[in-house]
Amino acid sequence: MDVNCDAVLDNLYLGGIQGPFNSEILRSQGITHILSILDRPLLAELVEGFKYKFIYALDLYDTDLLQDMEECLEFIEQGRQEGSVLVHCQAGASRSATIVIAYLMRACHMARDEALSFVKKQRPIVNPNQGFLEQLQLFENMGCRVDRSHEEFRMYTLNKLAIRIKSGLASFCTQLLLMCRKNFIWFTKLTVVNITCFIHRRPLFRQSVVLSHKKGEGESAFDWRSKIPPKASEMKPENLEAELEAKCDISLFVEPIEWMKGKIEHMEGKLSCPKCSAKLGSFVWYGERCPCGAWVAPAFHIQRNKVDEVKPHAVAPIPQQRTSLPPSYQLPVVVDPENDVDGASVDVNSLPLA
Ligand SMILES: [Zn+2]
Ligand SMILES: [Zn+2]
Repeated sequence: MDVNCDAVLDNLYLGGIQGPFNSEILRSQGITHILSILDRPLLAELVEGFKYKFIYALDLYDTDLLQDMEECLEFIEQGRQEGSVLVHCQAGASRSATIVIAYLMRACHMARDEALSFVKKQRPIVNPNQGFLEQLQLFENMGCRVDRSHEEFRMYTLNKLAIRIKSGLASFCTQLLLMCRKNFIWFTKLTVVNITCFIHRRPLFRQSVVLSHKKGEGESAFDWRSKIPPKASEMKPENLEAELEAKCDISLFVEPIEWMKGKIEHMEGKLSCPKCSAKLGSFVWYGERCPCGAWVAPAFHIQRNKVDEVKPHAVAPIPQQRTSLPPSYQLPVVVDPENDVDGASVDVNSLPLA
């Protein structure tokens, strides 16, 4: 085709913006669907007669293509079944190429790099920006689907949120609610351990909201942007894995939790128990360093010595014959998280629309 687009698979084309301006040529090639990844939609008259989908995205490191990825891949699949589909952006090199590579990864079971070189062979100018390459790697790690409950995806989303808040692009409340709705971050049902306040022993959150990071590294998997090198004194010495592990153990980094709402609408501050106001830790939206040296952003950190871990299966049964328990025998409080107003669960329907 002489409209700056190339066939990648049967019924799938990748190109620049020239295609839609030559709709007769597109039609003659059997194209029925157009997917635009641009900063503005195409004029209606250009896409008349085509099935059309527009996704707003700039070709920037921070642009989040994963949020719309599933929608795009469904549209491509539908387009290929009903006719042919053109995926395009301005140049057909970065944004649209990223979507097409993700499609190949899923449809043809290719790894990211394999799909990238496959597309480059059909269209040599293909060159997704570094942020998109990282998103494709995450897509691969999630099994070629956007899994909003995947830990790495939750970290990625949080970090994107921190960047938006820091740059003043988003207000705290709106974005928190939006994130909550989009990712169901607070509704995971993987209750293995409840973490309780050390004073009044009511549940504060579930183990599943605790986020991990790469120990002792100045740049963390948590932080997709701030590549802050560790100070020389914090560089990981050899054979000190155990020591790093111990340092990491001092803090728990968690996702923002329902009861924090209303208290984390500043760049940084203290976190205290919503019931008894005991000091539990602190938060810094732009990130802080774990004692092990890793940079974590955003950082909602709870001091481990201020909370207790309660393992439901470790609870000893109450002996039948006893009418009262000896004073030293304290049962941990285990509350059904689905019905627990103090815990991490929140009714999605009660949230206002963002
Ligand atoms: Zn650490
Ligand atoms: Zn408390």
